[in-house]
Parts: sequence; structure tokens; C-alpha cells
Amino acid sequence: MGTVVEITVANCSEDQARSAIKEAMGEFKRIDDLMSSYKPGSVVSRVNQNGSSAKVPVGEEVLRVLRDAVAISGASGGAFDPTIWPVVQLWGLDQGGSIPIAGLLTNKLELVGYKKLIFDDSKYSVGFSVTGMGLDLGAVAKGWAVDRAMEKLMALGIRNAIIDAGGDLRIIGARPGKEFWRIGVQHPRESGALLLSFDLKDTAIVTSGDYERFFVADGVRYHHILDPSTGQPARGCQSVTVLAPTASEADACATAAFVLGPSEGLAFLRARPGVRGVIVGADGQLHWTDEALARMAHR
Ligand code: ADP
Ligand code: MG
Repeated sequence: MGTVVEITVANCSEDQARSAIKEAMGEFKRIDDLMSSYKPGSVVSRVNQNGSSAKVPVGEEVLRVLRDAVAISGASGGAFDPTIWPVVQLWGLDQGGSIPIAGLLTNKLELVGYKKLIFDDSKYSVGFSVTGMGLDLGAVAKGWAVDRAMEKLMALGIRNAIIDAGGDLRIIGARPGKEFWRIGVQHPRESGALLLSFDLKDTAIVTSGDYERFFVADGVRYHHILDPSTGQPARGCQSVTVLAPTASEADACATAAFVLGPSEGLAFLRARPGVRGVIVGADGQLHWTDEALARMAHR
């Protein structure tokens, strides 16, 4: 998934910790093998290679993740879009990246649109109504994997843990001797520094930022969160941190709110039960979904 996964467990034997962590780590590879657009053999890549009006079977799990993603697309007015893949490929940010030729970008944008997906839920299959479309679950698969990995830990009796997949976190229980885990949020403009931290238990907390994958050309930052209406990097935010019951929901919501920008992004987050967060605007200003969360933060 192009990230470092760190798992912390507490209040268990070393043997229990080792085997639980091994099982949980396995979930990241399993899900990457299903959902990566970069791995040629993955289920998602099979759809991208063969998808057309003829639908491709993807299995129950991929269909579920894609259905959830499309629901977020609808709720965000298309700011979040799992069919952004043709445009993502054009920017090539996984390999350093470069500014695409305008005409090419316009052509690829015509292939983007979650409403152009066709589903056969009874057969767990997916197709494209326009040839050349492609799926990108990059903004949700990590969160999904964090949730599945946490399920593995819990099934093996772990009650106090943090799973951190490059800023996508899920936590259960508390740090030994404490009532909570202290979780830091990366500063979007100071590498290695914290913007703030929270004392949390039993939640997911996910941050999407423009500092993770980007290049700079003529003083302008080009990053990996794209606005599906223009095909350009979204310009409203430096980062978005979302707290939600699951990491998959938090992951999708963070990306969606990032594209929407501070004002519409806050409205989008506030409309979802159990979801809260903080948006760092392009000017570095903080925007909170609720005062209580702002008061909880250590700065
Ligand atoms: P991170 O990789 O920092 O966790 P995100 O969860 O925000 O970031 O996901 C960003 C990835 O999602 C991009 O690398 C790209 O593959 C994909 N993506 C980019 N823009 C969008 C969008 N508007 N909607 C859905 N997915 C997107
Ligand atoms: Mg995301």
C-alpha cells in the first residue's frame, strides 16, 4: 500500500503479541492483493484491464468496499470518486509525477464518474459504461485494511492496541496504566512535528494531507488528492483529520472533505453521525467540526 504499518499491542504475553501482529499484518497484504490498482494481478486491476459493459466478478469484499465508496461519492457530490484512476495515472505521483498535457487531462476526465459504474450485486460483479474507465480504491483500502487487521487482533484476544498505517489509525482500549492512547497528528508543513494530539480510546483517526505524495513545479505544490471536477490537485486544504467509528469511513471522509475544502468539508463531516474532525485550510487555519473536539486537543 506504499506505506509503513505499525502495530502496537499491550497487556498480553509476547507470544500472543507476536502471533496476533503477524495475523493482522497478513490482512494488509491480502487486501492489497485484492484492491491495489498498481498490482497487475489484483482483482481491481482485473476490472481495470477487462472492464466494459461486460461486468467482471470482484467478490463480496471488493464489492462492499466499492459500494461504500460510491455512497461517499454521492454524499460528497462527487468530490470523492473511486473512478478517478485514469487521471491518477496521468499525474504519475507514485513515480515522482509531472504536470499532464491539458488536452490529455480533458480526455481522461471524461472517463471519470462514479455514476458510470455498473453493478450486478447478485453476481458481485462490476463494469464500466464507458471503455477506458478505471477503479482506484487508494483512498479507502488502507482504512478498510486497518479495520480488518484490528478485527484479527480482537479475535485473538487483544484488547489494547493501535494500528497505524501511515496516518490511518484505529485504536482499542488504552495505554497500560492510562485511560487512553495519546495520538499525534502530523503537522502538514513541518516534517516530523506534531500539529496537535488527542487522548483517545476505541475510535479510528485518519489524516489525509497534501504533504505525503507531491512534487513542486514553479513554486506550486502538486499532490495526490485530486478534484474530480477539474483533474487538478484539490486546493482548499493542507490536511484533514477525521475521527469515526471505523477507519474505512474515516479514510473516505478525510479524502472527501479534503477535496470539498474547509467550509463544505465541515458541512459534509457534520452531516455524518459519529464523525468529527479538524480541517487545516490552505492558509494553515484550523476548522473544527465541534468545539468539544477543539477543547480535547493538546497543542
Ligand atoms: P493517503 O494516501 O494520504 O492516505 P488518501 O486516503 O486521501 O491519502 O487517498 C489518496 C489516494 O486516493 C490517491 O493517491 C489516489 O489514488 C486516490 N484519490 C485521489 N483523489 C481522489 C478522489 N477525489 N476521490 C477518491 N480517490 C482519490
Ligand atoms: Mg482517504
